[in-house]
Amino acid sequence: MTSFNWNNIFLNNYGTPTIELVEGEGVVVKDSQGNIYLDFLSGIAVNALGHAHPAVIDAVSKQIRKLSHTSNFYANEPAINLAEKLIAISNLDAKVFFCNSGAEANEAAIKLSRRTGKKSLIAANNSFHGRTMGSLSITGQLAKQKPFKPLLSDVQFIDINSKSGVRKIKRKTAAVFLESIQGEGGVTPCTNEFLKAVRAKTIKTKSLLVMDEVQTGLGRTGQWFGYENAGITPDVVTLAKALGGGLPMGAILVTGDAKELFEPGQHGSTFGGNPVVASAALATIDVIEKENLLENSLNMGELLIKLINQIEGVTEVRGRGLLLGVELTELAAKDVELECRKMGLLLNAVNEKTLRLAPALIVNIEQVKRCSEIIDDAIKNVKKSGSNS
Ligand code: PLP
Repeated sequence: MTSFNWNNIFLNNYGTPTIELVEGEGVVVKDSQGNIYLDFLSGIAVNALGHAHPAVIDAVSKQIRKLSHTSNFYANEPAINLAEKLIAISNLDAKVFFCNSGAEANEAAIKLSRRTGKKSLIAANNSFHGRTMGSLSITGQLAKQKPFKPLLSDVQFIDINSKSGVRKIKRKTAAVFLESIQGEGGVTPCTNEFLKAVRAKTIKTKSLLVMDEVQTGLGRTGQWFGYENAGITPDVVTLAKALGGGLPMGAILVTGDAKELFEPGQHGSTFGGNPVVASAALATIDVIEKENLLENSLNMGELLIKLINQIEGVTEVRGRGLLLGVELTELAAKDVELECRKMGLLLNAVNEKTLRLAPALIVNIEQVKRCSEIIDDAIKNVKKSGSNS
């Protein structure tokens, strides 16, 4: 570890990291002690092409030599091309706004919904939409909200996959925010039936349906966007994480009448649509297309589900494509996470009983098999050490 005292220089909002990563290639990363890991977390569902992908390095290097930043007073070619590309791959008749993170994308969608003239928002229990005051207001986790109250007042939380939840959507509802698979909430998917029912109801009540695809977007679930699995068309899609190919970028895609809700001066971002990040995003989408990574995401996901379901101590594997939650029967997920790390596998305990896997979309069969073996061994080791103590 580089010699520094974390707690002397960083605010106390994160835990203290016990390893420092120094370099990576593809799905493999190395720490400052020379230990090698299979990275099945990808910077929390960010590095879609893994680490140090040549296409991203090339695009970023070329662009930063040419033009690194413009502000939104001036257009730039990578941002224009990226907006067109997102419209094309989403198949939506959409317009785009660029920002820098998932929270900002949801913040933009909240502000956009205010422009409908309505104020009430609906989001899901256990959801996660970000840490800014607006996105935190629609995050259905009391522990995260409590220290920062009062938040936005007119927000109601519903259970996903419930009929009573759909009934709570009313004419006064400006927007409904949903993740197709709740990532931070434990990798819990919305059923297709639920998403279809919400879509039908929001059309009736003229409420915006905002699909937060920050974690599920850009191929993670085997489609460009997770909501496509339900065959619905949202009004707004929020994106970040994988979008920038490892660099910070967020976006919202807005369809229908909602496209005209913002007027000049009502929203903005200095770095939004930055040409270097946009060129990284374009390169990432290009590789996902050329190398059929949507298919790889689905296939490798299915293999992971099959292999991990055979492990003793696993009750369930949830999710789709390469966003999977492994529910453990009795052990603390944190203990298994740490044991996996000792054995050279990075993943994370997303809650007390669930491990989250989100490897790069380029992951291969050998790496998937190795991941499954390590989880198996880690569970056995944790069990053994528990029974010894
Ligand atoms: N929305 C979802 C579904 C997320 O998973 C996250 C982050 O985990 C966010 C929003 C917030 O994104 P960011 O951390 O980039 O602000």
